[in-house]
Amino acid sequence: MKIGIPTSLLYYYYYPFWKTMFDELKIEIVLSKTTSKYIVNKGIEYSVPEICVPIKVFTGHVVSIIEDVDYVFVPRMVCVLKNEYFCPKFMGLPDMIKYTVPGAINKVLSPKITSDSDNISNPKFYSEMRSILGIGSWELQKALKKAQREWEKFRQLSKDGYVLSDALDIFEGKEIADKNILNKGDITIGLLGYVYDIYDNFVSMNIIEKLKEMNVNIRTFEMLDDSVMNNSIEFMKKRLFWTFSNKLLGAGYYYYDQPNVDGLIHVTAFGCGPDSMIGKMLEMESNTYNKPFMTIRIDEHSGESHLQTRAEAFIDMIRRKKNQADGVSIDENNLSIHGNNAGL
Ligand code: SF4
Repeated sequence: MKIGIPTSLLYYYYYPFWKTMFDELKIEIVLSKTTSKYIVNKGIEYSVPEICVPIKVFTGHVVSIIEDVDYVFVPRMVCVLKNEYFCPKFMGLPDMIKYTVPGAINKVLSPKITSDSDNISNPKFYSEMRSILGIGSWELQKALKKAQREWEKFRQLSKDGYVLSDALDIFEGKEIADKNILNKGDITIGLLGYVYDIYDNFVSMNIIEKLKEMNVNIRTFEMLDDSVMNNSIEFMKKRLFWTFSNKLLGAGYYYYDQPNVDGLIHVTAFGCGPDSMIGKMLEMESNTYNKPFMTIRIDEHSGESHLQTRAEAFIDMIRRKKNQADGVSIDENNLSIHGNNAGL
């Protein structure tokens, strides 16, 4: 029995959980290859045109492995917090995949996660999967408990200051060159975006490495405790409906308010509904907090050099601003760059 896991979307956040669970159940995992032009093109070919870029990329990953596996793992992520939800595209993802990817209709394994907390190890979420794979109840419970423990350890790595890509490498037992990125550079940036936009190097055009090369410290939402992000948006009369959008917004407000954070970059994908709201909110707060803000919008068109130029210009501007003598007024104080696309 082989289960395919697309290395896309929530793979970057939940892979340690899923891997531990399947390892404990002694079920072989097949990972799709890292995102490539071929995968993106397949995603575009088999998705509805108006869907957001990350869903297209995920679809391409499924197309790339569907013939090599018995099932492809596409959890239906509904909620991990009471009264808040994942973006609706995650809720409909198993159905989208079944009906758009040739050969997927009877191959989608989709546990339904409806948790009121970060603990997603309740066996009832996986009951359908258990009957399809013929797993014993006790065996599943044991696997899920271990998976949750491993995932919590992985999450702690982020909270200790590792970017997710490094945390995933540590989880896999790999050596990482740059042990802890918290305080090495002279500039600190709040890098905000969904994990599948930031950590898919093809999609984000390797923005983390580019920033590291510019001697920039990076702060992301997953480095913060939920309580910190929640406190930052406590003033809002009404939270957003979507859990991860609230995390990004909370992290944005928090980082704006930190004296050691010099500016914010928001990485967003073309066609993302929730981001159109949080991007605008963060952009408007740039003046309030007197900190530079830049949006990088990714779409299906190529343009890595464009991203490099914009990121360099943004960081140079912040560096110049930091190097100005105290009390000198410069225009860049209120600079907010937005609306430009960086292609995929
Ligand atoms: S949050 Fe945005 S990018 Fe993510 S799946 Fe929903 S619409 Fe797509």
